[in-house]
Amino acid sequence: MTNPRAKNPSDWKPATRLVHGGTTRSGFGETSEAMYLTQGFVYDSAESAEARFAGEAEGYIYSRYANPTVSMFEKRMCALEGAEAALATSSGMAAVTAAIMCQLRAGDHIVAARALFGSCRWVVEKLAPQYGIQATLVDGTDLAAWKAAIQPNTKVFFLESPTNPTLEVVDIKAVADLAHEIGASLVVDNVFATPLYQKPLELGADVVVYSATKHIDGQGRCLGGVVLSTQEWITEKMFDFFRHTGPSLSPFNAWTLLKGLETLPLRVAQQTRNAASAADLLAQSSKVKRVIYPGRSDHPQAELVKRQMSAGSTLVAFELDGKSQAFGFENALEVIQISNNLGDAKSLVTHPATTTHKNLSKEDRDALGISDGVVRLSLGLEDIDDLLADLDRALAAI
Ligand SMILES: *Cc1c(COP(=O)(O)O)cnc(C)c1O
Repeated sequence: MTNPRAKNPSDWKPATRLVHGGTTRSGFGETSEAMYLTQGFVYDSAESAEARFAGEAEGYIYSRYANPTVSMFEKRMCALEGAEAALATSSGMAAVTAAIMCQLRAGDHIVAARALFGSCRWVVEKLAPQYGIQATLVDGTDLAAWKAAIQPNTKVFFLESPTNPTLEVVDIKAVADLAHEIGASLVVDNVFATPLYQKPLELGADVVVYSATKHIDGQGRCLGGVVLSTQEWITEKMFDFFRHTGPSLSPFNAWTLLKGLETLPLRVAQQTRNAASAADLLAQSSKVKRVIYPGRSDHPQAELVKRQMSAGSTLVAFELDGKSQAFGFENALEVIQISNNLGDAKSLVTHPATTTHKNLSKEDRDALGISDGVVRLSLGLEDIDDLLADLDRALAAI
């Protein structure tokens, strides 16, 4: 049953969509979204089961394919992203793997920006070749490199922007145009930008993926992911892969993520304000060699950031003088916690070279600008005075 009082959700502003979008109420008219903790569904008759399996009657069949609470999350994400269809997954990596592998066959070729989240890079560089799919990694900021990597069998382009951890920005529209010239599709991992600050589908991407574990939950409670695209792409390219391999999101986690979406704009706005203040403080310190923050005018691609994103980021990257300074800084923090997660209500700091990017060779890390002095900071919801004091204390300690 849909809300009988709902007018036209497509006229709603994003914050309203994030509170009401996709809500389907049971006969009890509950205020908060119902949690349908069920694997399966029963049918009125054998004929009705037959009709549902034949696709002639609407209705749920099995929670690996679809579940009412998970559907609410998918619909709310569609309303936010401006996408026609979505499939929610059990983690961000399940979303990335399904979105990429469902559209590639042995003999195909994928081109990806080399600055990728560690596991995404493993999927492209290690997993895809195991199935006879060729992979080329390029400097995502260099359009000529994307062009040079194209082969007759290139089917998919994949990128993340801003990148983890050095917050490089890739020109999504230019890469999408290049992909479409050769009939390939572009998949964008939009985690760092959040669905609020960057709209890859509007910029020409074919598929957008999220780790909902990050800002969408934003409170460290559960893993989740989602893939968004056109109805045609979801139905023709991804649904069978999804249905038969089973990376489905649990209804409990879908419910948690629905609650997360209600407060997403408030949290991300405050975390971005905190990140901007932290970046400014770090930039003033003589102990900091460089600060990378997409919201600052000294970001190497400030002009592209302005064109493609509506605001900076909840993350800041900066470089200290080597590993011992970076470790000393982290260990002196009292409010900010050491953790490899991001987008959380708690401010978190990580040393990429020894954690999230430790599986890359030193050479690969150097190519990405991840020196031993690079520190990644994810700003949370603490009072900014306490955060700045914590940063000051840690800088003074090194
Ligand atoms: C965290 C992250 C992922 C993976 O998400 P999980 O939910 O941890 O599986 C993928 N891409 C980016 C950019 C991420 O930050």
